Amino acid sequence: MNPALERLRALLPRHGVEAFLVTNAANRRYISGFDGTAGCLLVGREEAFLVTDSRYREQAEAQAPQFEVLLWRRNLAATLARIIRKQSWKRVAFEAKDVSYSFYREMTRFFPGELVPLESALEELRRVKSDREIKLLRQGAALLDRGFNYLLEYLKPGLTEQEVALELEYFLRRQGAQEAAFRFIVASGQRGSMPHGVASGKRLQQGELVTIDFGVIYQGYASDMTRTLALGSADRRQRQVYQLVYRAQQAAREGIKAGMSAAEADRLAREIIDGAGLGGYFGHGLGHGVGLETHERPVLSPLGKEILEPGMVVTIEPGVYIPGWGGVRIEDMVLIGRDRGETLNSSPRELIII
Ligand code: ZN
Ligand code: ZN
Repeated sequence: MNPALERLRALLPRHGVEAFLVTNAANRRYISGFDGTAGCLLVGREEAFLVTDSRYREQAEAQAPQFEVLLWRRNLAATLARIIRKQSWKRVAFEAKDVSYSFYREMTRFFPGELVPLESALEELRRVKSDREIKLLRQGAALLDRGFNYLLEYLKPGLTEQEVALELEYFLRRQGAQEAAFRFIVASGQRGSMPHGVASGKRLQQGELVTIDFGVIYQGYASDMTRTLALGSADRRQRQVYQLVYRAQQAAREGIKAGMSAAEADRLAREIIDGAGLGGYFGHGLGHGVGLETHERPVLSPLGKEILEPGMVVTIEPGVYIPGWGGVRIEDMVLIGRDRGETLNSSPRELIII
């Protein structure tokens, strides 16, 4: 049994379609198990096809046993249309955010029926994780904890941000990570005011804060974590800002639970930072879902309307970024439960001075 495939099938009547065309790589993997880089799924009430090219035949048959594997040669859209016609499907849903204009035009050229655009039906399916997914996300978070431990021994003033990022990635990959989930952020001193400042050639200096945001893909699943450290010493201002972000992050980790809206979760941290008069320096949302992709649904932000459910895994990552001064962010992965959240990372969160 493949629960994801059955959950997708249950959506067919709700959208008034006879089949789904799945083109997004993460959704394709979620529904079929096939993790090759090319291919589409066509899923009907009874039938399930995986259309890929000859490079992937064996892999597709092994990874997606519930799918009939078909190969396309000259024209993918023509092959898909042929399958659709053979099944007599009249209305087929497709992923509006994933399909390019040119592929859509190709499809309409060959397919006589109606193509129904869906915005994020599959991404919504992926929000609540299965036990197997939670286990892998937990292992990914533990892997990052080991990486952080390693950093504590390795980090010192004089290294460049790039050296730190490279060393950390090398360590994590030797520990079993498939790849980095994104370009690691190592932002020291004034560069810390850029929430997404990827590692540069700048050297770490005594007396600076350094924010390190890193994540890997482990057995297909992403992970994401951030710590801010002090190099050598921390002055009063650095300690104050750190404590504020620490309190905001803790409040959100402890307060988040199922039944809340994404905006309510965001407010748990934001009201603390607002209360200290620094709300203007917390420009991004509280966090995001993590799963097959680093950033997925739900989106925790002041505008978030999604209702949190048990089994969702999200990041909690408030930050304060002050131009010309620097920044602090603390980020952990949290499993949403009925009455409380469970933080999956166990690295220390108190300010560490190296
Ligand atoms: Zn992150
Ligand atoms: Zn994140």
